[in-house]
Amino acid sequence: MNLEITQVAIIGAGPSGAIAAALLNQKGIDVIVLEKATFPRFSIGESLLPACMESIRAAGMLDAVNNAGFQFKNGAAFNRQGRYISFDFTDKFSPGIGTTFQVQRGTFDKVLADDAERQGVTIRYQHEIASVDLDGPKPCLTVKNEKGEAYALEAEFILDASGFGRVLPRLLNLETPSCLPPRQAIFTHIVDHIDDEQYDREKILISVHPENQDVWYWLIPFSNGTCSFGIVGEPAFFERYPDNHIDAIRQLASEEPRLAVLLANAEYPNPSGQIGGYSANVSTLATDKFALLGNAGEFLDPVFSSGVTIAMKSAELAVDVLSRQLMGEDVDWTTAYEQPLLKGIDTFRCYVEGWYKGTLQDVIFYPNPDAKIKQMICSILAGYAWDEDNPYVKEPVRRLKTLATICAE
Ligand code: FAD
Repeated sequence: MNLEITQVAIIGAGPSGAIAAALLNQKGIDVIVLEKATFPRFSIGESLLPACMESIRAAGMLDAVNNAGFQFKNGAAFNRQGRYISFDFTDKFSPGIGTTFQVQRGTFDKVLADDAERQGVTIRYQHEIASVDLDGPKPCLTVKNEKGEAYALEAEFILDASGFGRVLPRLLNLETPSCLPPRQAIFTHIVDHIDDEQYDREKILISVHPENQDVWYWLIPFSNGTCSFGIVGEPAFFERYPDNHIDAIRQLASEEPRLAVLLANAEYPNPSGQIGGYSANVSTLATDKFALLGNAGEFLDPVFSSGVTIAMKSAELAVDVLSRQLMGEDVDWTTAYEQPLLKGIDTFRCYVEGWYKGTLQDVIFYPNPDAKIKQMICSILAGYAWDEDNPYVKEPVRRLKTLATICAE
């Protein structure tokens, strides 16, 4: 078997892999990205948060993303029992970019990967990881290329950016159960034909099911007259709906009064998708030989569109620590990578749990919010979940509990 050598091997060319590769390349570090698919390929996760634009800027990809023709996004809107609340991400507590995009992920991920290649990164498509060996002095991957031929790739370090592929967690037995119950999503892309002039295409619309407050819909408009439309609930909830997902999605749309009106003329010409049991965790996020980025590490829940932001933030944090390690510095991955990354993930975790318990919904739908507190909550919804100047990031559990009690009263 042929042996090749590089400084850093990255598994997966999705958002976390592409951002990490570009950042390492900027520092003059040799990187090879191994991607099992060819791009463009479908991926779920189409509503971005402004905070991820900071990572895109750091990776030198802002122009590529700004010029790709995606739907501009400036906030999030929530709809429950006839009440409509919107958050304007530019009116937030934390500094940083306040707008972003709603993107077809096949195109978006290709824009990032192509830009990483333009910057000098090597990406090998249709190269899939078969096994990993961490017992030698340096980690070594066995890779199968597009012809099915195996070769060995030895690196100083491996970044696993394989998303739901979760390559190293599976091969190294790192998977642990999530703290969240299993949920599933069914979704499709519709031609929306929304003619309501009040409808704001620049925001994701999250709607709560009228009878089940832990079931919610996403409506994510794109720039071409189509929308991503999906529903999330526990598996038992979907049992009472038709097996055909498009029929189930149509029926669910008709049950929520605002969506029923908005989507009255919608067409459903595209296939549906389903994904379940996606919440996942691991026993460790990094050692001195590998680090897990994005979904290859922990994935919480899609309700706040935080997945791509966490993926990119993990890439930024890991590259910072790794570049120091490659310069010969003694680094501690737990304190320098895992703990800072988990700070933001734990903030999102608190708000996700609050959403399903209903406490965060009470906060979001509260009719007379204090303007300053709304800005602080808005910052988190915009992805600035690592800004400890924000009291709702510094002490998420205590602050949210107190606020929810006031709102419930
Ligand atoms: P990915 O984007 O999954 O990329 C991983 C790459 O690794 C893929 O290209 C894959 O082909 C490759 N790969 C896998 N296995 C191998 C292998 N063995 N060898 C080589 N390559 C491999 N996030 C948001 O930000 N906004 C949203 O609106 C949103 N909605 C969501 C809705 C649902 C229902 C779910 C489940 C998730 C949603 N997410 C959302 C989360 C989002 O999809 C992910 O967090 C994000 O894609 C993670 O990026 P990543 O770079 O970690 O992995």
